[in-house]
Amino acid sequence: MLKISSVLLKAIKEQAEKDYPYETCGIMIGKEEDSMRVVYELLPVGNANKDRKNDRYEINPKDYMKAESYADSKNMQIVGIYHSHPDHPDMASKTDEERAFEYLSYIIVSVQKRKAVSYRSFELLDKKMVEEKVIET
Ligand SMILES: [Zn+2]
Repeated sequence: MLKISSVLLKAIKEQAEKDYPYETCGIMIGKEEDSMRVVYELLPVGNANKDRKNDRYEINPKDYMKAESYADSKNMQIVGIYHSHPDHPDMASKTDEERAFEYLSYIIVSVQKRKAVSYRSFELLDKKMVEEKVIET
């Protein structure tokens, strides 16, 4: 389960619309509270995939490590990753599933014609991406 404020969700959607027709991505920093992942901050990162930015995203390992040490310095941790699907539904793809890590939330925003229309969050359970409940605050 994921808990995120509507302000942060709005920021994710705006970033996804701005980066259209390319996939946007970023890292969510927060804490585990009452067996929920709670998002406190977003760290937008550039899509490191140079060839297929329209339907793939990649986070540079250096950006990931930076995010980890930043979270550490604030007594928090990486709780998830968000990215967009330009002109595609908000469903986890095979690639998303193969690259996912356990214990993280994956928000996927569907952007249709530059408008963020919907989103879902997933977590990896038994190597499968399963939709999880999102509590918007
Ligand atoms: Zn995806």
